[in-house]
Amino acid sequence: MPRPISVRIHPEAVRHNLQTAKQSASGARVWAVVKANAYGHGIERIYPALAGADGIALLDLDEAVRVRELGWTQPILLLEGIFDSADVATAVAHHLTVAVHCDEQLSLLAAARTRQPIDIQLKMNSGMNRLGYRPDVFRAAWERARATPTIGKIALMTHFANADDSAIDWQLDRFDAATEGIPGERSLSNSAAVLWHPRAHRDWVRPGTILYGASPTGVARHIEGVGLRAAMTLASRIIGVQTLAPGETVGYGCAYEAEQPMRIGVVACGYADGYPRHAPTGTPIVVDGVRTRVVGRVSMDMLTVDLTPCPNAGIGSQVELWGERVKVDEVAEASGTIGYELMCAVARRVPVDVDSLGAARRDIEEESVTA
Ligand SMILES: *Cc1c(COP(=O)(O)O)cnc(C)c1O
Repeated sequence: MPRPISVRIHPEAVRHNLQTAKQSASGARVWAVVKANAYGHGIERIYPALAGADGIALLDLDEAVRVRELGWTQPILLLEGIFDSADVATAVAHHLTVAVHCDEQLSLLAAARTRQPIDIQLKMNSGMNRLGYRPDVFRAAWERARATPTIGKIALMTHFANADDSAIDWQLDRFDAATEGIPGERSLSNSAAVLWHPRAHRDWVRPGTILYGASPTGVARHIEGVGLRAAMTLASRIIGVQTLAPGETVGYGCAYEAEQPMRIGVVACGYADGYPRHAPTGTPIVVDGVRTRVVGRVSMDMLTVDLTPCPNAGIGSQVELWGERVKVDEVAEASGTIGYELMCAVARRVPVDVDSLGAARRDIEEESVTA
């Protein structure tokens, strides 16, 4: 029998979250962002849930080709564009829309041998200072793109450095000033702007993390009430139980010391599965449906939990590391990171289950009854 850990993917949750994003940015069309293999969920696994999207956006050329091979006929956007001339040929062959953030990319497109013009999203650097034309040279870049016969439709895009609060205003003002009078569709909003900044919605929005039920800020309570559902459940079981006397410790470094007699559950999940080693004592975790806490250090293959709130738990008890009851962002926040990173980092050794689209989410408690 394999170790009792698994990650379950819920395409129905993605479908629901996509609808929520569409309602939040009603009037805008939606690029569903599925980079990094759909934020660790697996593009093929969640693909059926994306039917309501208007386009699919990602980074890797091979992922774009995979999406075409799945049968997607609507636009596919390469968020970082192309890297060399071979990419241009692939982009043409698969009818990809490409971001253009620098003159080198414009030159690659200008040199393309194609009769079918390539649609682009011309990217402005509105303050992130990673990719894109600065506002003062944006118009010149647009003129150059427009004069390039191999380039088709030109949309205007930017990616916010800070969409979490009022900082969005200066970036938007910059974008609007520098693009005034330039025709073309606008695409500005990531998940945070989809939820909180209607002024940035424009023609196309680009939600990523909210499609998977995670918080754009990495803080779970910031999306309370939005009604998103977790698209990933990391689950395991208790494989050992220890009873500690006061003063005894658990795990490497003797990092947690019992103050009173207590039962400790040993969970088959460690940092080699993608659970953060930095999760401190107190990180929330669910055992047999009851919220409790991680105690002591997370090790490679195991972690330890306080069974005080769930006295009936024992070997075989179901554990939810993150999912609907413990949000991935709660674990992330306790560990000094964001849900994005944890979702992307589930290890290959963890077996994956996929709910069928349309199936009601399976209840972990139900599973433990039937197990
Ligand atoms: C990743 C990414 C997004 C989506 O960001 P979220 O915060 O996950 O919504 C949107 N646009 C670009 C250019 C991106 O790289």
